[in-house]
Order: sequence, then C-alpha cells, then structure tokens
Amino acid sequence: MAEVREGVIKYRARHRAEPLPQWTANVLRELGAWRGILFRLHLLGQDGRRYGGAAWGNVSARLPPWHEEGRRPFLVSGTQTGGVAEAGPQHFAVVDSCDVTGEEVRSFGPVQPSSEAMTHASIYRVAPELRFVFHAHCPEVWTAARRLELPRTPDGVDYGTREMAWAVERLLPQKQTRAARAIVMTGHEDGFITFGETADEAGEAMVRWLARARGLSPRGN
Ligand SMILES: [Zn+2]
Repeated sequence: MAEVREGVIKYRARHRAEPLPQWTANVLRELGAWRGILFRLHLLGQDGRRYGGAAWGNVSARLPPWHEEGRRPFLVSGTQTGGVAEAGPQHFAVVDSCDVTGEEVRSFGPVQPSSEAMTHASIYRVAPELRFVFHAHCPEVWTAARRLELPRTPDGVDYGTREMAWAVERLLPQKQTRAARAIVMTGHEDGFITFGETADEAGEAMVRWLARARGLSPRGN
C-alpha cells in the first residue's frame, strides 16, 4: 500500500549530522514563512487518519552562490517534519549533491532530508533559475488535475524514486508546466508540486490551484 510506505526514504542517504550553518538563516526565514502558511492550509501536516499516520509535505530553497554552475545546494525540510507547526533550523537539512541515476543524496544538517529530496533536486537541475520548490498533499487539486489541465507525472510513478525525478525533468521544460508553475504527481496520492523563482511565486501557485480546484462545479462544468 502506497499510503503505508509514505515517508520512507528510497534513495541512498549520505548524511552528516551537524547544526545548520548560520549563512542559511535568511533563506530559511523566507522558506519558513511560506511553510507556515502551507501548514495552516493542511497542505503539509500529519494526521493519524491519513497515509498510515506518516507526515506529508516538504519545502526547499536553493542556496547561494547562485552563479556556481553544476553545484546547486539547497535547503530542504527534514524527513517526517510535515506535522511540525512551527519549524525551526533543527527541522531542515542542506542537500549538497544528488545523483539521480545512482539514487544517492549527499546532505548535512540536524535532520535527514525529506524522502522526496530527489524530486526537488531534479527541478533545480533542469531549471537553474528556479529557487523554491514546494511539495504538498492536496486531495482537491490531485482529484481535479485533469479538469484543471495541470501537467501530470505518469500513473505508477511513485514518490521519492528516480522515475519520479525523471518524470518531473521531462515535464519541466514544457511551456504549459512553466505557465502553471505546478505538477501533479498522479502515482503519489494527493501529491502536488509548485515552484518559482521566488518563494511568493511557488506559494501563490499553490494557493491559486487550491482555490481553482475548490471553485470547480461538483460534476463537469
Ligand atoms: Zn508526498
């Protein structure tokens, strides 16, 4: 059952446990502000009645220096931290490098990175100008993905896998995806991703699609 496996890390994790460096503080504040909004909207969270009790949702932000080609470290919320109402530095990790083909993620920080870190990494790799990626679980948007004409990863592609990373990499260059700033993960129950060059772009896309899904008529148009 996909629900029960939610939150399990599927890549090889090379993680160094150490405090988050002070130079991440500014990006962390910006990311944390939007994370708090997503939590209030239940786009992140933890509930014993959903996904076998596993926490859901994760957010990330690229870290400077922006110009360094080929090296795109990013800050990402820690594994199983979706249920934390007020996240602090102790709930985030830095992903140094990510090898999607080898399914290996190198990171450091006070907590292991989210089990979906590879999906975040693939977005930053394909689209260097993007700096924020939010992954939420949103039943309204997920169910209405087709009617909303949102870009979708193929059915059967599960979260946290290289197949998901590749599926996202294929969708990302498409005009429709860039305009929507969103991707629905068909094979990952309620899975929804938004992204942007700023935290506001990623956050606003999340809220906008939720509003559109809720504004649809119950059946057809
Ligand atoms: Zn998820």
